[in-house]
Amino acid sequence: MPRPISAIISLPSLRHNLAVCTAQFNIANSSGPHAAPKVWAVIKADAYGHGIENAVQAFELADGLAMLDLAEALRCREAGWTKPILLLEGFFEPSDLKLIEHYSLTATVHNSEQIDMLEAAAPASPVNIFVKLNTGMNRLGFEPRDYRGAYARLERLQQRGIVGSLGKMTHFARADDSAEVTREQVRLFNETTLGLPGEVSACNSAGTFTPGCWQSVAPGSAQWGRPGICLYGASPFAGRTAQSMGLLPAMTLRSQLICVRTIPAGAGVGYGHIFTAERAMRIGVVACGYADGYPRHASTGTPVVVDGVRTRLLGRVSMDMLIVDLDAVPQAHVGSEVVLWGEGGPSADEVAAAAGTIAYELLCAVAPRVPKTVI
Ligand SMILES: *Cc1c(COP(=O)(O)O)cnc(C)c1O
Repeated sequence: MPRPISAIISLPSLRHNLAVCTAQFNIANSSGPHAAPKVWAVIKADAYGHGIENAVQAFELADGLAMLDLAEALRCREAGWTKPILLLEGFFEPSDLKLIEHYSLTATVHNSEQIDMLEAAAPASPVNIFVKLNTGMNRLGFEPRDYRGAYARLERLQQRGIVGSLGKMTHFARADDSAEVTREQVRLFNETTLGLPGEVSACNSAGTFTPGCWQSVAPGSAQWGRPGICLYGASPFAGRTAQSMGLLPAMTLRSQLICVRTIPAGAGVGYGHIFTAERAMRIGVVACGYADGYPRHASTGTPVVVDGVRTRLLGRVSMDMLIVDLDAVPQAHVGSEVVLWGEGGPSADEVAAAAGTIAYELLCAVAPRVPKTVI
């Protein structure tokens, strides 16, 4: 029998979360003269650990899918996705352009080397492009002083039939915690791209859920949002729960107790004995460890639900197991159900906070050895 651990992926929750994100654009739309943005559902990193094929199925109402990896983009096409696919880092070498052309992928262009490659490869059918501007993230994108020159070069390639549609994009660095920084990024984007034709794309999840944000981006242009984490039911904001945003967890990491014991006062628990029992207590061993993707940095007190009761992690997480406090769960026994995060358990955001990280990392890091069950 396999170990009793699994990640349950809920397609209805993924669908629900997409609808909640889309509604952010529609609700906001009723207050102004803006056309609601279309949605790129961001499915990089195997759909934040939920599985590309599951995402293709659940996000069928999205206008497009966005990711980094060419192989993942091809999987989307093989799974039957016919709408646009955006490669967020574009292409890395000239041979990528053959696949981009063959599978009709849209590419981000963020540096002049990519324009050189396009020009040299001169694909026979035009490639659709979003040209990225660095507005302060300082990761990918042309500098504002170079942007219009790059855009003009691509327009010349467009006239030669090498480039198809041309759009403009940027990425926010602090949409989760600084309205001021985001406003400055939007201002720089609008100023730099003013008058250039084409669709625009800017808002990640935090931007999507910030009132007034998308309406301020290139007013009058057709826009694409790019939500990611919210589609999976986690929050991009440190102080705002996914639940309060109307989102549902799409992944539930569950396992079982594989051992139960009582330890005396003064006994240490697990590697390093970093937790010591103050009094006699009942503890349980869960078949889930850091090799499954549970964060090793989670400390004593991290919430865990055992047989429907919220309790806590004790001591250090091992490679394949972790230990929990059963004092509040007297009925717990070998085989009792344990929810590490997700429906019926703590949120991935809570567990991440207890481990000094973010839910993004936990969801992406669930190990391939954990079987996925799709509901
Ligand atoms: C990851 C990513 C997104 C989505 O970000 P979330 O915070 O998960 O919503 C959007 N755009 C780009 C360029 C990204 O890399």
